[in-house]
Amino acid sequence: MSEKLKPAKLLVIASKAGRVTKRYPYDEPLLSPDFRGKITIDENLCIGCGACVNACPPNALQLMKDKDTVVLRYFVGRCIFCWRCVDVCPVGAIKGLREFELATNDISDLYVHVVHKKAKCEKCEGEGATQRMLYYVVQKSPIVEEYLNECPDCRRKSFIDSVVKRRTGGVSE
Ligand code: SF4
Ligand code: SF4
Repeated sequence: MSEKLKPAKLLVIASKAGRVTKRYPYDEPLLSPDFRGKITIDENLCIGCGACVNACPPNALQLMKDKDTVVLRYFVGRCIFCWRCVDVCPVGAIKGLREFELATNDISDLYVHVVHKKAKCEKCEGEGATQRMLYYVVQKSPIVEEYLNECPDCRRKSFIDSVVKRRTGGVSE
């Protein structure tokens, strides 16, 4: 069994060693170069696709829908700083920061909301994606613009109708 050090001896050792811890929070915290902290979402880039929501293990990101809007909500109080959302965002709207301090007197400080207008199908009034997501899809894929304002179901039907029309020369079979 190791011999117990006397207080006086401990004091001598401590004074020789000097300060071995950081004066945090008075000094900058000591972080490794790979440290991951909370995220920031650029509301001008976000298209409201929800990919980050699906990738987020603790549900710190959620998509909330009401009649006219889709809201991406980030609650930093649940965030585990894994940055999976950074990896999956198709438009690079999420950036990882090195900030990790969450203390606040007001819990609303821990929430970020990105509000999107919901796209409505002009045929059935059903709900589709966000308006920004539709524009993104048009830019990225050869979707015919006349189907743009239709929900996925009506778009599928319109496409099938147009194929049938082309094959039959506009005459119903
Ligand atoms: S860093 Fe991880 S836990 Fe935090 S919001 Fe992104 S995916 Fe969710
Ligand atoms: S665009 Fe990026 S930040 Fe916006 S919902 Fe999709 S994955 Fe999340």
